[in-house]
Amino acid sequence: MNLNYCPVCGTKLHPKEQPHEAPALYCDRCAEYRFPIYSAAVAVTVLDEAGENMILIRQYGDPDPVLVAGYIEKSETAEEAVIREVNEELGMTVQRLSFLRSRYYAPSETLMFHYAATVKGKTAAPNWEVDNWEWVPVEHALELVKPGGLAETLLLDYEEYRRCRT
Ligand SMILES: [Zn+2]
Repeated sequence: MNLNYCPVCGTKLHPKEQPHEAPALYCDRCAEYRFPIYSAAVAVTVLDEAGENMILIRQYGDPDPVLVAGYIEKSETAEEAVIREVNEELGMTVQRLSFLRSRYYAPSETLMFHYAATVKGKTAAPNWEVDNWEWVPVEHALELVKPGGLAETLLLDYEEYRRCRT
């Protein structure tokens, strides 16, 4: 969200020069710089213990499968959000976490942190947010998601991560 007014006091902001940096928006009344406001979220490639299969889920009546994802709550770390979301959406326990990369998702002004998470066991107990879920072989996941969608972008990130590690 591009700020026009100070989110604390409502005064109109204006760009102010900073030493050695690009101008930033400034509130004269608060005597503070004000920086962009955006959301932060996690996306999770959920893997079995062997790393051979991953979970795709369908949500909210959408026929296209996606990855587990959710907003990071205030004062929570990205890692805590991954553990919480996997537990909430799938009822599964994260054993190992690896950070893959971040992506800015412009449609919802969200900075996404993408992790791979290994879970214990094979059986999910999904919550109301999940219509259905399935394990799919890692090498086939890309064929199942909508071309050009966010899930595809995330799966390509995971492929690249895997390539760099082997
Ligand atoms: Zn202010």
